[in-house]
Amino acid sequence: MDITILVNLSYIAASILFIAGLKMLGSPDTARRGNAFSSSGMLLAVLITLLDQNIVDYRYIAGALIAGSIVGYFAATKVKMTSMPEMVAIFNGFGGIASLLVGSAEYVSGTFDNPAFLGAIFVTVLIGGITFTGSIVAYGKLSEIISGRPFLYKGQQFVNGLLVLSILLVGANMLYIQGFISAEQTLMLLLALAFLLGILFVIPIGGADMPVVIALLNSFSGLAACAAGFVILNNVLIVAGALVGASGLILTNIMCKAMNRSLANVLFSGFGAVADASSESSQEQGEVKPITAQDAYLILEAASSVLIVPGYGMAVAQAQHAVRELGELLEANGAEVKYAIHPVAGRMPGHMNVLLAEANVSYDVLVEPDDVNPIMETVDVCMVIGANDVVNPDAKDNESSPIYGMPIIEVDNSKTVFVLKRSMASGFAGIQNPLFFKPNTRMLFGDAKETVSTLVSEFKA
Ligand code: NDP
Repeated sequence: MDITILVNLSYIAASILFIAGLKMLGSPDTARRGNAFSSSGMLLAVLITLLDQNIVDYRYIAGALIAGSIVGYFAATKVKMTSMPEMVAIFNGFGGIASLLVGSAEYVSGTFDNPAFLGAIFVTVLIGGITFTGSIVAYGKLSEIISGRPFLYKGQQFVNGLLVLSILLVGANMLYIQGFISAEQTLMLLLALAFLLGILFVIPIGGADMPVVIALLNSFSGLAACAAGFVILNNVLIVAGALVGASGLILTNIMCKAMNRSLANVLFSGFGAVADASSESSQEQGEVKPITAQDAYLILEAASSVLIVPGYGMAVAQAQHAVRELGELLEANGAEVKYAIHPVAGRMPGHMNVLLAEANVSYDVLVEPDDVNPIMETVDVCMVIGANDVVNPDAKDNESSPIYGMPIIEVDNSKTVFVLKRSMASGFAGIQNPLFFKPNTRMLFGDAKETVSTLVSEFKA
């Protein structure tokens, strides 16, 4: 068979595996199989490309493969579960820089002859560069190396406008004018501007808005790969990039809905700002009522409906297995137990779903805020396990709050709320939570895993 036909048939097979895999990732029951499908599609695509395109010496490819595998192996095995969101952010950045390098190499080789081709190179380098530096800033914010506070300064819109204009001028020189500055200078200028735009695009975005930015950067990494596919005329790269780009955009839309914001509002306003320590949102608002695990047990034992609301603290404490055990004991005791999952709980989309699936919590008992908020008054006990921002009533009650307008899980409307956390520290948005001071709230201070394990022991005693 002609090699070109074989390559294209293999690329079609790989694309089908990607699409089927993506579809399977939509349900926890089929997600593992979906991952295997997509990975085998990628393996097929890589092998066929290596056989087909003898453009680079195999020794370079083998060297890069070994170096990349070593770095990837150590990064994946050493990373703590709580640092997974940062790792996902940096992987988006690696995707961006890989596409940028492909585009730059093609531009430097000078083997192009039409503006459409140059346009694809321009888009690849621009989006790849923005994704790379934007993801590094996102990594810094998620790992709290960089403050979650939005970096706002006077004349910001003007500087951004100037930057975009400069990028358009460089693009025009690349595509049409050519010769105004040399090809190397054009590329260097485009790289510098794209890197700068990536930093300036993410740095002003406040703590609570990071889910939207992570999803958008994920989409950008796909779009850059798609554009790189046009540069090197590789069909499977175009398909894979388009799939990542489109699914990232859908996720961005879901995250915007979860925050009740438009994308433009996220990108161009200071919403999600970490509150100033002196502001009303940061101050304590009365007395809190601590309770011991033993007393909490007595209330739980009498409860006929319990809603568990996990958040980032459950991931930190790795409490998901103990939580599942407690849920089973409560059910055995006659209570109806549900888990309410907020779309932005944790530090990455689907964070809580992954943890609960790992602990074998049935998907049937997971509910969304919209399902549970209307019947919250009927819930006997809400157990807030390491969640904070996603249950903050200021989001609905306090117009001056930085998270005002974000839909929350309205646990404050239930009969009794237990908040499991270690201290009075704030969540990722850096704001005080009036829930802790409500008359129906009891604070169960301590590490979530230890507290839940004590409750489990009480039930078993
Ligand atoms: P938060 O970050 O608001 O709060 C987490 C709480 O967990 C803290 O208040 C902390 O309090 C507590 N905690 C930490 N460790 C432990 C422990 N070992 N045991 C018990 N409690 C612990 O989490 P939420 O899930 O409510 O909200 C997520 C936030 O992250 C939102 O602001 C969201 O916008 C943002 N975000 C979400 C992303 C996503 O994609 N999901 C991505 C990026 C940001 P204490 O220290 O007192 O124990």
